[in-house]
Amino acid sequence: MLMVDRIIVGLLMSNSYLVFDPVIREGILIDAGDEAEKIFKNIERNRVEVKAIYATHGHFDHVLAVRELKEYLECKFYIHREDLDILMKATIACKEITGERCLEPPAPDEYIKDGDIVKIGGSEIKVLHTPGHTPGSVSYVLDGAVFTGDTLFAGAVGRHDLPGGNLRQLLNSLNKLLSLPEDYSVYPGHGPSTTIGVEKIYNPFVGDRGLYRESEKM
Ligand SMILES: [Zn+2]
Ligand SMILES: [Zn+2]
Repeated sequence: MLMVDRIIVGLLMSNSYLVFDPVIREGILIDAGDEAEKIFKNIERNRVEVKAIYATHGHFDHVLAVRELKEYLECKFYIHREDLDILMKATIACKEITGERCLEPPAPDEYIKDGDIVKIGGSEIKVLHTPGHTPGSVSYVLDGAVFTGDTLFAGAVGRHDLPGGNLRQLLNSLNKLLSLPEDYSVYPGHGPSTTIGVEKIYNPFVGDRGLYRESEKM
């Protein structure tokens, strides 16, 4: 069984997740959006050896701390190839939105794609390509939980109107996610965690009567 420790970083309050095997103390980071030192301290507090950083997508609020953390941790950085363009423009987007000095994210060491398996100790995490918020958005599925980035939130879904966004793809991806078992925990890119079952019932943007479904018919 893997453990999940969330910390909230940066101006846009992004979630950064430390996912690790509690016995062998080995793990990965899913998103490192800002405040590298805070993320690093949390890794030390948990006494975990971080093997790699995986991004859910290339928006700056999910990758700004990757350059510094990669140096501290001497680990690899993975992202889906279709978000490379957005990743390379992250610094510009960050300056425009925050007005602050933003550290440029590094080029990815390797790309991840749908169906890839990430091993942590005896556990496996599967990569699920969930485009729509961005072309290279992915979710990470493990036994009993899914990390959804900015695709699915508690009570909301990601924007599809930013560059590279696509409503039809987003709806497809949401269908994929909501077909996971209902007792699966959902760990989004922002805000609190939820479950697949709760989102199926209460999320106003999904399902047959979902807000997007209605507007699509018009
Ligand atoms: Zn985003
Ligand atoms: Zn975000």
